[in-house]
Amino acid sequence: MRPEELDPGTLENRRVGPITVLFGYENGKYPYGNSFLVEGEEQSVMIDPCLGVVARRDALPKVDMVIHSHTHEDHIAGTHLFSDVPWYAHSEDALGLKSIDGLMDIYGLPPGETYDAFLAEIDSAFYYPHEGSSAGAVRTFEEGHSFDLGGVTIDVLHTPGHTRGHSCFLVSWGDSREERFVYLGDIELTGFGPYYGDAWSNLKDFESSMRRLKEVDAHWWLTFHHKGLIEGRETFLAMLEKFSAMIDDRESRLLDYIVAPRTLDEIVEHRFVYRPGQTGFLIDMTERRSMLQHLERLMASGVVALTNDHYQVVRARRT
Ligand SMILES: [Zn+2]
Repeated sequence: MRPEELDPGTLENRRVGPITVLFGYENGKYPYGNSFLVEGEEQSVMIDPCLGVVARRDALPKVDMVIHSHTHEDHIAGTHLFSDVPWYAHSEDALGLKSIDGLMDIYGLPPGETYDAFLAEIDSAFYYPHEGSSAGAVRTFEEGHSFDLGGVTIDVLHTPGHTRGHSCFLVSWGDSREERFVYLGDIELTGFGPYYGDAWSNLKDFESSMRRLKEVDAHWWLTFHHKGLIEGRETFLAMLEKFSAMIDDRESRLLDYIVAPRTLDEIVEHRFVYRPGQTGFLIDMTERRSMLQHLERLMASGVVALTNDHYQVVRARRT
C-alpha cells in the first residue's frame, strides 16, 4: 500500500509511562503491526517502525535511534524515515538491515519466481532502505545490552527462535512492576501459535525463549501483531501458556498421523501448522521446515524412525 493510501487519522496511540504505543491498522494484522516510541530525559527511541509509522510520517517525533526486535519486512517498513540516526538490531539479524540480499537470506527462499516476487514486494510495499539513499548506520547489540535514555532503560532480552537474533525489550522507568513493560516482537501470542518456519528460525530456541519470558516480571506486555497491549502478568502468562501449547498440539497431531508410515510430502500436504486447504509455495515451505524440526527431534529421542523415506512412530513418547 502506498503512503498516500495510509490514513493516519484512523490510527490510535496509547501512552504508558514514557512509552507511546503506535497501534497499526486492523489490530496489527500482517502486513501491519504495532510500533512504539520510548522517550527518556536524554534520548528517545523508535522501536520496530512499521507501515503505521509510514502513515504517521508527517507528524513523527525526532528520535536518537531506531531499535529492531528482528529484521523481517513488516518490522522495518518505516525505518527508512529515520535515515539520520543509527539503526540497531541483534548481531545475528543485522544483515537484514545492511542489504536486501541479507534480508532474503533470513527467509531462506530458494531462487525462483517466489523469491523474485517477494524481493520486489519488500522493495516497494515495505520501502526497503537502500544504501546511499535512505539508509542509516547499522549498529548491533547482544544479549544483556542496556540502552540508557535518561530515567528510562531498555534492556535487551535475546529471545531467538522466530529468527536467530529475535530480541524482546524490557523497558523500565521505576522500581515497581507497573513501571516495567516488555515488548514481545513476534512472540505474538496468537491462536496460530509460534512461527519457526524460516531459514533463521529454530523450534528449540523458540521454546527456551518462551521459558525465559515466564520468569520476567512486568505489568505491561506488547505484541507486534494482533494482541497488542496486554495488562497484567497473570494475563500474559495465561496467553503465553496457550500460545506455546500449539507446539505440543502440532506434535501430537503429527504423531497420530505417522502411526502409519508417511513421506515428508504427505506430512506437508496434511498440514499441521496451517489449516488443510491453505495452499501456496510459501505455506508448503514453512510447513516443511517447521515439521522437519519436530521430526528431527522425535527421531533423536527414538520415538520416530525414518525408513525408505517414510516416517513412522516406533515407540511411545515419554511424557
Ligand atoms: Zn517476524
